[in-house]
Amino acid sequence: MTRPTATRYGASRADLDLLLAGQPRYRVDQVWSGLYEQLATPAELTNVPKATRALLEAELPLALEPVAESTSDGGETVKWLWALTDGTQVETVLMHYDERSTVCVSSQAGCAMGCTFCATGQAGFDRHLDVGEIVEQVVRAGRRARDDGRRLSNVVFMGMGEPLANYDPTWAAVERLHADVGLSARHLTVSTVGIVPGIRRLALEELPVNLAVSLHAADDALRDELVPINRRYPLSTLMDACSGYLQAKHRRLSFEWALIDGVNDRDIDARHLIERARSLPLPAHVNLIPLNPTPGYAVRGTPPRRVREFRDRLRDGGVNATIRRTRGTEIDAACGQLRANHAIAPASVDVALGQPVRKRGSKATT
Ligand code: SAH
Ligand code: SF4
Repeated sequence: MTRPTATRYGASRADLDLLLAGQPRYRVDQVWSGLYEQLATPAELTNVPKATRALLEAELPLALEPVAESTSDGGETVKWLWALTDGTQVETVLMHYDERSTVCVSSQAGCAMGCTFCATGQAGFDRHLDVGEIVEQVVRAGRRARDDGRRLSNVVFMGMGEPLANYDPTWAAVERLHADVGLSARHLTVSTVGIVPGIRRLALEELPVNLAVSLHAADDALRDELVPINRRYPLSTLMDACSGYLQAKHRRLSFEWALIDGVNDRDIDARHLIERARSLPLPAHVNLIPLNPTPGYAVRGTPPRRVREFRDRLRDGGVNATIRRTRGTEIDAACGQLRANHAIAPASVDVALGQPVRKRGSKATT
């Protein structure tokens, strides 16, 4: 028998066909829906023969090995640090809210975009994740949500990495989450720093996922500094791609804005942002989040009062804005502030599962 080289959630139906050759035709469907719809492990597939369960377990290994798991916010936020099969590390965060449970997944190990204020960007790029590595983050968080008596409802691509710089695996993951896990496109959000060709491609896809654009500055001089990729795709080009996405999908688009004290929280910044948000066919919704401090960027987040004032300025200017609750700050788990500790080999991690992974600043910059 040809052995699929794929991991459990990287394997295609064709791989399963091959692996289960000689078994009744319905077997592949049973296994597929067990793995994705029911989020079952092979051992839990009690409707398939024992030998098949053992075969699946042996031939379709998991791609993520938990190095550490930590919880905060009274159990409402769970973060995993995973080791991939080559030892590379990535993180995933699950957040329970009153009305939904959201998993924040990584699309790359590290990130090559170099945004100055971002912990992932400061650590540099390791490698792209493949579809199985992305989907497995969702499946494992989904299982955990179920154990917590919840149902995983939303996926945001706001963990480590730039999803549109790893387009094909990211999109394959989106399609699988939609078709096989059964998540609706309106509950899937791709966040981008502004990779214009990626946004244009996304506009051509059939599934109308939500698009979040990490803007952070609405004039080119400041954005060039905070988000270096702006030099390649300046704001006029980016806004044009955003308009194209809106026209194609009729979905609300959001701008992410990490408020940095004295840098992008001035009245002039609010005015520029209002102009940009209202220049789109449908005004963008703005998500404000006070900057989470990172070791490599010596500027603070905007204090809470100014955050509220900034939001009110936007609202007065006719732009919807909400302040995002920061989650998991005590375990560095807030979505988008992930930075796996590559300096520590899995075998030498000195914390047990359930303990904080590491202290901020303990990471050697690569
Ligand atoms: N690369 C993609 C997705 C991952 S980052 C992107 O940039 O959109 C997810 C979000 O967290 C982005 O909006 C990013 O700008 C934001 N972020 C990064 N570092 C942050 C920090 N220190 N404080 C607050 N938000 C941050
Ligand atoms: Fe990469 Fe996004 Fe961080 Fe920028 S903000 S470095 S694009 S992960």
